Amino acid sequence: MRRVAIVGAGVAGLRLGGLLQARGLSVELFDKARGPAGRISTRRLDWGRFDHGAQYFTARDPRFVAQVEDWLARGVAAPWSARFAVLEQGEVRKEPSPPIRYVGVPGMSAIARDLAQGLVVRTGVRIASAWPRGPHWVLVADDGFEFDSFDWVVSAVPAPQAPPLLEASPVLMLHVRRVRFLACHAAMVRYAAPLAVDFDAAFVRDSPLGWVAREASKPGREPSNGWLLHSTPAWSEAHLELPAEQVLDALAAAFARALERSLPELPERASGTVHRWLFARPETHGAGAALWDPELGLGVCGDWVQGDRVEDAFLSAERLAESMLASLARDGAR
Ligand SMILES: Cc1cc2nc3c(=O)[nH]c(=O)nc-3n(C[C@H](O)[C@H](O)[C@H](O)COP(=O)(O)OP(=O)(O)OC[C@H]3O[C@@H](n4cnc5c(N)ncnc54)[C@H](O)[C@@H]3O)c2cc1C
Repeated sequence: MRRVAIVGAGVAGLRLGGLLQARGLSVELFDKARGPAGRISTRRLDWGRFDHGAQYFTARDPRFVAQVEDWLARGVAAPWSARFAVLEQGEVRKEPSPPIRYVGVPGMSAIARDLAQGLVVRTGVRIASAWPRGPHWVLVADDGFEFDSFDWVVSAVPAPQAPPLLEASPVLMLHVRRVRFLACHAAMVRYAAPLAVDFDAAFVRDSPLGWVAREASKPGREPSNGWLLHSTPAWSEAHLELPAEQVLDALAAAFARALERSLPELPERASGTVHRWLFARPETHGAGAALWDPELGLGVCGDWVQGDRVEDAFLSAERLAESMLASLARDGAR
């Protein structure tokens, strides 16, 4: 039985793991974080829960549509029927024709928990490098511990984090080096009273903010006065090293400015914190072809291989699994 190591337990790594395990391969996933999910994590704070990465997902490709229908049927996800708007120069405009947006229930990370079912996921393990040794692969963790005897290795991490895993393949390295990611700050804010606004989530124009959302407007969430504020990539790139407290103040002030015509005075801020996503969204992405070196047994997947959304992460795993399973079939026929 082939042993496969997948580094990264976000949507891409988890979907790939599920597909390969269903075809009889022995799969182990590694993630440096405390749990699987990556950029679809839900942050639990004493004073509220926030989807601080991906806010929602949409579904276009039939393969992802089928997966979403399954999640809907099992209550893992639900449509987010909210009042979507655009905030521009103090005006609030209804979003003209919003697509159907879905969210995990009771948080986005429910999607990752579902994809992780039945898989071996070693969390809290940062893989520092991956090397062929004899006929097999060795993964070296950052504390020096070695995980060995893998036949195949896959990098399912954002492109800027992939090079240490791909030293053995100059070709795959070229692909990841071409992709640049941009940062995003997520401010999680709880107000002392509800905000008297007539929208639940909005794209923000001409502001340090790109997006704001009332957490409790999502299905299955507890009532709260919590708002999630995402900066624009441009603002985050220009303020990468700004201390968290100042980021929080700047983004909360930008929210107040964006609302000043409809809500001249915001209620007091009762609590707040900030998370910095250093590698939030790819600025450019690949053409979508599976990145798989069958000679080395080394592959790459992740949203950035073909786009920048949850659906892209899922589909990149589908494509890579096809190539890996085709290799398996060819090897079996030899
Ligand atoms: C702020 C923000 C808002 C977004 N909004 C949306 C949205 O509204 N809709 C949408 O569709 N998409 C959105 N996205 C994008 C979406 O979250 C991603 O496309 C998707 O989650 C990427 O999944 P992935 O598996 O490719 O990567 P990731 O989720 O990044 O998973 C990679 C995993 O690899 C782990 N890792 C990295 N390096 C190592 C290492 N050396 N060793 C071990 N583990 C490692 C990380 O901990 C992480 O868990 C948003 C993203 C962000 C950050």
